[in-house]
Amino acid sequence: SKTEALMGGGHSGPKMSSKGVVLGPDGKPCRTCTSVRDWASMSRSIKGAKITTNKATTATPITLPADCPPDVELLGRSSWTLLHSIAATYPEKPSTQQQQDATTFISSFSRLYPCHWCATDFQSWMKGAGGAPKVSSRQEFGQWLCEAQNEVNKKLGKEEFDCRKWEERWRTGWKD
Ligand code: FAD
Repeated sequence: SKTEALMGGGHSGPKMSSKGVVLGPDGKPCRTCTSVRDWASMSRSIKGAKITTNKATTATPITLPADCPPDVELLGRSSWTLLHSIAATYPEKPSTQQQQDATTFISSFSRLYPCHWCATDFQSWMKGAGGAPKVSSRQEFGQWLCEAQNEVNKKLGKEEFDCRKWEERWRTGWKD
């Protein structure tokens, strides 16, 4: 379910409103923790949003106007783009300072990420299977981020990404 996907394993899950909107630590609806589809079911209308029904999947994709605050999915896509792009331009042989910067950035990111449930799970992964960010080379950093995203992919029931293709996806472009 949406709730299970958002919360992952191990903890009691996010507080939800009756309409499936995730509540923030302040008890108010948290837009960056909720998909726009669930948000729309609460607010009935999002000005300018296009709602189309996909008959094949019965899913209801909603396209937000470009100048609306992000939902959990747009926030996620944009964040992975930034993270992988940082790794793609990270040196093959980073200095001590650059390694410190990368570690500090990921650590702050994991505490400031605007979907608090996502942030908590990311922190738990780093304390457990993922370990501390691997930042001793571009390749290592990219692979570590790829594993981090695969962890979320698994949690959301999405296909895992083949991390051997990380560099083509995020740095060089596809070979063919
Ligand atoms: P995304 O999953 O965002 O993927 C974007 C692109 O990245 C894909 O098109 C693909 O080309 C590429 N890609 C996919 N997997 C990998 C990989 N392993 N390595 C490299 N490239 C890859 N959402 C939730 O609902 N619950 C959560 O708990 C949650 N936690 C998150 C934690 C973090 C730290 C971040 C950054 C995001 C989190 N999200 C979470 C958002 C979620 O990961 C997706 O970004 C969101 O569901 C939108 O998915 P998407 O299918 O559009 O593409």
